[in-house]
Amino acid sequence: MLDNHSTTEISKLGEFGLIKHLTQNIELKNPSTVKGVGDDAAIIDYGGAKMSVVSTDMLVEGVHFDLSYVPLKHLGYKAATVNFSDIFAMNATPKQLLVSIAISSKFSLDAIEEIYSGLLLACERYGVDLVGGDTTASKSGLVISCTIIGEAEKEKIVYRNGAKEKDLLCVTGDLGGAYMGLLMLEREKEVYKSDPKIQPDLEGNDYILERQLKPEARIDIIQMLADCGVVPTSMIDISDGLASELLHICTQSNVGAQLYEEKIPMDPMTFDRAREFSLDPTMCAMNGGEDFELLFTVDMKDYEKLQHNPDVTFIGHITAKEAGVNLVTRSNTEHPVTAQGWDALLGKDN
Ligand code: ADP
Ligand code: MG
Repeated sequence: MLDNHSTTEISKLGEFGLIKHLTQNIELKNPSTVKGVGDDAAIIDYGGAKMSVVSTDMLVEGVHFDLSYVPLKHLGYKAATVNFSDIFAMNATPKQLLVSIAISSKFSLDAIEEIYSGLLLACERYGVDLVGGDTTASKSGLVISCTIIGEAEKEKIVYRNGAKEKDLLCVTGDLGGAYMGLLMLEREKEVYKSDPKIQPDLEGNDYILERQLKPEARIDIIQMLADCGVVPTSMIDISDGLASELLHICTQSNVGAQLYEEKIPMDPMTFDRAREFSLDPTMCAMNGGEDFELLFTVDMKDYEKLQHNPDVTFIGHITAKEAGVNLVTRSNTEHPVTAQGWDALLGKDN
């Protein structure tokens, strides 16, 4: 049980500080454990041709999703794809999924079946087998925890720590959309709460709503990289926002980076909605999160192989650590990149 004193300490540490605090003294005992805590997935080597790649993620009602606007089938789909995304972030292929759920008495059989239809649809589409899990009662909300097992050839695995000076910084797809989708859904929920007679007005926002409610993981990018013979030097998936993920790559690789604001890919709808919410669109891409795109670095020699790919945008390059991690704005000024997270974006301080 947490007392007030320890909860204050936890909030001061933050999520990453807490993980570091809890795991810093772990010493790996088994030669088969190639990579433990610290990347998108752990890597296990059983001596065969392929390595195992393992990751787990938990979605908690009221923290990660709000059932007043999240359809259960979408929730199941997202629970699976966010796990697949961590496997793709290692340049690996997801194969087996385990699903644990805690259900409160308010859920009907139909409701749980809906969640499973989403989970199974994602497994079908991504070629993954659902092989197990756990089922329990919950006294509060719904919890879905998934563990994914993937595989990869040893020399194809990409970690967060391999970026080197002069490498090119690439991102897939476009950013900020999932966060704008969330803000739209939250806004309509508030309108509905104040007057249930007003119907939600979500028309014309399909793209950003889908980005939030039913994200896809970039299996196509992993296939494309294999097809054109490119192995990135480092890679991470964007779950917390471009800023936070770039800092993870730079910290773990011991390098700095220059990131160019004008290069950050954004969908016009994301841009327009951000402006309507009086938000800086760039900040939505930097700190919004949940886009589940891939951020990676490649050696300059691979530029030509990716140059004309419509799914990949070159957004900057890797520098020496001493130069720091900077955002070069449209007006050509440099700002150090900081991971602010959603609260800072919304101007909240808790
Ligand atoms: P991601 O956003 O890619 O899912 P996280 O930020 O959740 O990764 O976690 C960062 C790293 O810390 C991962 O390697 C993860 O396995 C590890 N980790 C997270 N929480 C814990 C925990 N409670 N105990 C041990 N390791 C953890
Ligand atoms: Mg990840």
